[in-house]
Amino acid sequence: MIRIKRAPLPEPPRSRMAEHTCTIALAPAPKTKAQDLWSNTTVRTHVHAPLRELLSDMAAGRERCMYCGDNQGTDIDHFEPIARHPLRAFDWTNHVLACSLCNSRLKRSVFPLDADGTPLLIDPTGEDPSPHLRLVLAVGQYYPLTPRGQVTVDLFNLNRAILTKGRVNAYRVTKACIAQWTAATAHDDHESADMWARTIQEQPMADVVQAMLRQALDPAAETVFEDDQQLLAQLREPALRAALLIQ
Ligand SMILES: [Zn+2]
Repeated sequence: MIRIKRAPLPEPPRSRMAEHTCTIALAPAPKTKAQDLWSNTTVRTHVHAPLRELLSDMAAGRERCMYCGDNQGTDIDHFEPIARHPLRAFDWTNHVLACSLCNSRLKRSVFPLDADGTPLLIDPTGEDPSPHLRLVLAVGQYYPLTPRGQVTVDLFNLNRAILTKGRVNAYRVTKACIAQWTAATAHDDHESADMWARTIQEQPMADVVQAMLRQALDPAAETVFEDDQQLLAQLREPALRAALLIQ
């Protein structure tokens, strides 16, 4: 899971969403009204469609799910579920692009809170997940650094085999692409270097290359990359970091 920068909400659909929020606030049963409005056919056309397009542009790779980073993001997830907060049904800051597995089968309406009522789940569009989650590159597994990281790993089952194998593969492919980028750059072949950078950017599992770039500057980097000091030097190259690092 990586930080996703949220785009500003354009007009339309901004005014239409504000109207829907007012309608929900004035309804005698806000939760039912919010659910009805959200699933309304006209709303699907005029609100869901532009929202999905905006979210797809924000997502890493080719419209990847903002939670698992692997599957195509097909659903607009309400980070804070409609059932818990109906007034956030049409709140742009509450919309996250998710795959149907993460949205409908894993997260559903679950929204864990700590003893004080503070949300525990990490919203990748609202904060950087890296202080809570460390990706162990060699095995493709997430190691939770905080209780919130643990809750997020558990809820989305982020260490299931299909994801860990995918991350290990992405690590291998990214290493090979970085070697090609370095060779092309050394020959001033900027067209090829750009192509290799795009190949990395368009892969699923964008969390892998971001973890590689971040961990290359860690105090423990020499240990993490001890089998591949050449890769470590490449990851520290400012031009490569400028091309690939999501701030
Ligand atoms: Zn997913």
